[in-house]
Amino acid sequence: MLGRLARWLRFLGFDTLYYPDISDSRLIKIAREQDRLILTRDTRLVKIKAVRDYLLINANDSFSQLIEVIKSLGLKEVKPPGRCVKCNGQLREIADKTEVKDSVPEFVCLNFNTFLRCDNCGKIYWEGTHPQKFREKLGSIIRQI
Ligand SMILES: [Zn+2]
Repeated sequence: MLGRLARWLRFLGFDTLYYPDISDSRLIKIAREQDRLILTRDTRLVKIKAVRDYLLINANDSFSQLIEVIKSLGLKEVKPPGRCVKCNGQLREIADKTEVKDSVPEFVCLNFNTFLRCDNCGKIYWEGTHPQKFREKLGSIIRQI
């Protein structure tokens, strides 16, 4: 239900686990063990006594959901370079771009200079002007909330 929101939060650098299909008990266990806040739209879930820290999301579209989370939790700063949107891994900058030349299309290697690799799944990201500007724009929205 909140898959897009999870990707947004990771893009902004927030440590976000996402389980599209998980039992209530497992979700609650993970949240407790790892001291995590549960974001959910499930009004039934939050009535379970064992659920301690949660945020019930009301908005329907993912951008409004993001704003809701930012407002409720007071998240004021984005954390570049962000996290892997696929798996939540930490991204690290690759110092020498020749390292990625066999892993990305040739035109990408020629046209981009900043590359990031996910510590966890190995996915490679390249920072074009678009995601950077987009993150800055979001950052300024966040600061104004
Ligand atoms: Zn990853």
